[in-house]
Amino acid sequence: MIGVVGGGIAGLAAAHRLQKQDREVRVFEANTDLGGLAATYETAGDPIEKFYHHLSKSEETIVEWIDELGLESDLEWRYGSDAYYVDSVVHPMDKPWEILAYPHLSLYDKFRLGMLVLDVDIRGGIPSFDTYERLEDFEDVPVKEFILDHTSRGCFERFFKPLLEAKFGDRWEDVSAAWLLGRVKFRGERDILKGELLGYLDGGFGRVIDALIDSVGRENIVTGARVTDVAIDGAGVESLTVETAAGVQTHDVEAVVVATMPDVLEQLTGYTCEIDFQGTVCSVLSIEESLTDTYWLNIADEAPFGALIEHTNYVPPERYGGEHLLYAVKYVQDMDDDLWQQDDDGVEETWLSGIEDLFPEFDRESVNWIETARNPKTAPIYERGYLDMVVPYDLGDDVAEGVYYAGMASQAQYPERSLNGAIVAGQTCAERVQETQ
Ligand SMILES: Cc1cc2nc3c(=O)[nH]c(=O)nc-3n(C[C@H](O)[C@H](O)[C@H](O)COP(=O)(O)OP(=O)(O)OC[C@H]3O[C@@H](n4cnc5c(N)ncnc54)[C@H](O)[C@@H]3O)c2cc1C
Repeated sequence: MIGVVGGGIAGLAAAHRLQKQDREVRVFEANTDLGGLAATYETAGDPIEKFYHHLSKSEETIVEWIDELGLESDLEWRYGSDAYYVDSVVHPMDKPWEILAYPHLSLYDKFRLGMLVLDVDIRGGIPSFDTYERLEDFEDVPVKEFILDHTSRGCFERFFKPLLEAKFGDRWEDVSAAWLLGRVKFRGERDILKGELLGYLDGGFGRVIDALIDSVGRENIVTGARVTDVAIDGAGVESLTVETAAGVQTHDVEAVVVATMPDVLEQLTGYTCEIDFQGTVCSVLSIEESLTDTYWLNIADEAPFGALIEHTNYVPPERYGGEHLLYAVKYVQDMDDDLWQQDDDGVEETWLSGIEDLFPEFDRESVNWIETARNPKTAPIYERGYLDMVVPYDLGDDVAEGVYYAGMASQAQYPERSLNGAIVAGQTCAERVQETQ
C-alpha cells in the first residue's frame, strides 16, 4: 500500500493518479474534513471557498483534470475586474482609458509599467525583448532594486509597493525580482477592453475535491487521522504511524507521499526546508448589497485588510441565493500580529470598522453573516534564493527510498501557490513512484 499524508487537493490528486496506475492507496487526513485550504462554507446557494479562489489562463493541468473528472462543462471563464482604492476613491484599473485616467501615476510611470508587463526592457532607450526570459537570472535581485531599475520611482511607490506590502507585509523587501516577473507571466490572458480572464467552476472548486474523493473512494480515505511518524528500515520507508480517535495504528507502506506543509515533512522525516511561510486571516461576509462593482480591490490606504475581494462581482450572486459575498483578507507574517491574536468576534469588528472607514455609506446592519478562516501557513515568502530551497518530489537521496513530497514547498507551487500547482505536485509524485517503485 502507498500512504498519502494529507487530504488536500495535492494528496487527493496523488492518490487519484496512483490508483490509475493500479496501486493500492490510502489517504490519511488529520482534520475531520477533506480539502485543506480549498475547503468551503455553505451559503444560501452554492458553497463558497473559505479562502478566495480563481484560476488563471496559464494554468493548464487543472483544466485537463477538470475534463478528466467530467466537470469540463462547468468550468467558466469570466473577466475579473481590478481596482485600486486610494484617498477615498475606487479607481478601476482594467481598461486602457481607466489606467490612463488613474491620477496617482504619471504618463511616464504608466508607460514604464506597460513595457514591463509586455516583457519589453527599454532601459538605455533601446527596446530588448528577451531580458526577462530567464527567471533564474533574477533570483538574487531584490524586488525593490529591480522595480526602480526597470520601471520608475512612481511605479514603485504608488503601484508596486502597496501590492507587495499587502501580499508579504513587512517581509516584502526579501522577495526576489524573479518572483515578480514570474507572477507577471503567471497571469494569463488579458483582453485590452475587458480585463483579465479568470476561471471558476460552477458550484465552486469544492466540486473538484468531491470528484477526487469519489474517484479515490471514501473507503480509501481516513479522516481524523494524523500521521505522526514515518518509519525507515535500512534505506527504505517501512511504515506510517497514525493517530485516530480509536487509537494509534501502524500501517506498512511501500512508499509514502507527504502532501502537507514542509514543517510536517520535517516532523515525520527530519527533512528540513528553509522556506518561511506566512499565515492568512480571511473572512467571508455575506451582505445584502454590493459594496463596489469591482472583483479585486487593492487598498493603498491605511486599512486592516490588504484587499477586499467581492466574489459576487465575478460570479453572480444568484448562485448564492442572492447573497453578496465579500472576502476581507490579510496575510500575517508574525503570529504576534494583533489581528492573528484576535478571536473571531474581534476579527469581525476589525473588518467592519475598516470597511466603514473606507466606505462611510456601508451599513453593518446589511451583513447577514461572517465566517472567518485562519491558517498559520498558507503561502510561502518567495524570497531571494527561493528555488534553492524547494523540496524535491523524490526524497530518495535526502531521506529514504520511497519518500515523496507533494506539498506547498514543491517546485510546482512557484511562482504562485495554486490548486493547479498542487495537482501538478501530486501528479508528479505519482509519476515518480511509478518510475522508481
Ligand atoms: C488566501 C488564499 C488564497 C488562495 N487563492 C488561490 C487562487 O485564487 N487560486 C488557486 O488556484 N489557489 C489559491 N490558493 C492556493 C490553494 O488553495 C492551495 O495551493 C492548495 O489548496 C494547496 O493544497 P495542498 O493539498 O498542497 O495543501 P493543503 O490544502 O494545505 O492540504 C494539506 C492537508 O494536509 C493535512 N495534514 C497536515 N498535517 C497532517 C498530518 N500529520 N497527517 C495527516 N494530514 C495532515 C492538512 O489538514 C490539510 O488538509 C489560495 C490559498 C489561500 C490560503
